[in-house]
This record gives sequence, structure tokens and C-alpha cells, in this order.
Amino acid sequence: MTDSALSVSLLSLPRQIGSTVHCDRVWSVPDDLGTPSMAVPPGTELELSLDLTSVDSGVLVSLATSVDLEGECVRCLDPVRVHHEVSARELYFDALPSGEDVWADDVLLIGPHDVIDVEPLLRDSIVPLVEDRPLCRADCRGLCPGCGVKRDELPDDHCHELIDPRLAALAALLPDDMQIEGE
Ligand SMILES: [Zn+2]
Ligand SMILES: [Zn+2]
Repeated sequence: MTDSALSVSLLSLPRQIGSTVHCDRVWSVPDDLGTPSMAVPPGTELELSLDLTSVDSGVLVSLATSVDLEGECVRCLDPVRVHHEVSARELYFDALPSGEDVWADDVLLIGPHDVIDVEPLLRDSIVPLVEDRPLCRADCRGLCPGCGVKRDELPDDHCHELIDPRLAALAALLPDDMQIEGE
């Protein structure tokens, strides 16, 4: 854990209020950064820019990076790729702040040996960018339910209503043992 690109040592940061250090990290994305509908492709090398500032109760961490989220259009199944600039800022506390409505799970803490883990901060800033129902474009017409071909590639009058209404009327006149099969 301490050798992860997302574990940042604070040893070089003077703990005088207002002191700042900057560091750049490269993180190789694991296979779960996102959701099943959209994710950052595993193995992507994310370049992170981090600014750490000493404040009264801990260290303020500002993170900036950019990601490409990839998924599949829910209508036509074409690949969807959306670029996002990501920035996040969060306070890592020296100790759990006091107060009744503080939930330990929601608080980022400076770990033992003055190391912080910026992974939760990074993940929390990327997951809200994921679209549950990604579209290749807002007006994607999707696939024809009859043949599965993209509607954009089909002629406008393409349809699967095979029986002409006049033929259907004719079929109704046929004796029962001669009904057209299937309707
Ligand atoms: Zn589409
Ligand atoms: Zn069709």
C-alpha cells in the first residue's frame, strides 16, 4: 500500500499552516474504476497532479487529472468515449473531528507514518461522471427490433410489418383450414 502511486507521504510537507507542496503521480488504472456501464479502461496511465496544503486540522489535498470514460451506447451498442477533466479537493484530517453527526466512513484521515491515500478522493470524483445509460449521441435511433440493424443504416421505409392490410382482410375471408400461418 505504501508503494502505491496513490499513497502520498507528507514527510516533505512542512506542517506550518499554509505550507504547500506539489507532486505529480502516474497511476495505472485497475479494472474497476467506474461502473459496468462506463469505466476508465484498465491499464490507462492516469497522470495526477496533487497539491498538498497544511491547514489547521490536517492537510488539504487538491487533485487534478483527466480521464476518458468508455462504455457502450445503450441503444445501438456502439462504443462511447467521453473525456472529462477531473478536479477534486478534500481535507484529510489529522484525527477524527469531534461532533455527533460525523461518520468515520465519510472522513478522510491522514494514515500512520504521515501517509495519505488519495485513491478514495480520486474514485469519488470519477464515479459521479459515469452515465448510467450512455448514448453515442443524444438522438441515437438505436437498432431495428426486427432485424437488429442500426436504423441509421436502414432506409426510412424499412419495416417488418409483413402482411399488407389489404391482404390481411383477404386472409380473413379464407376458410379456416386455409388461414395464413402465424396470424
Ligand atoms: Zn447509439
Ligand atoms: Zn429491421
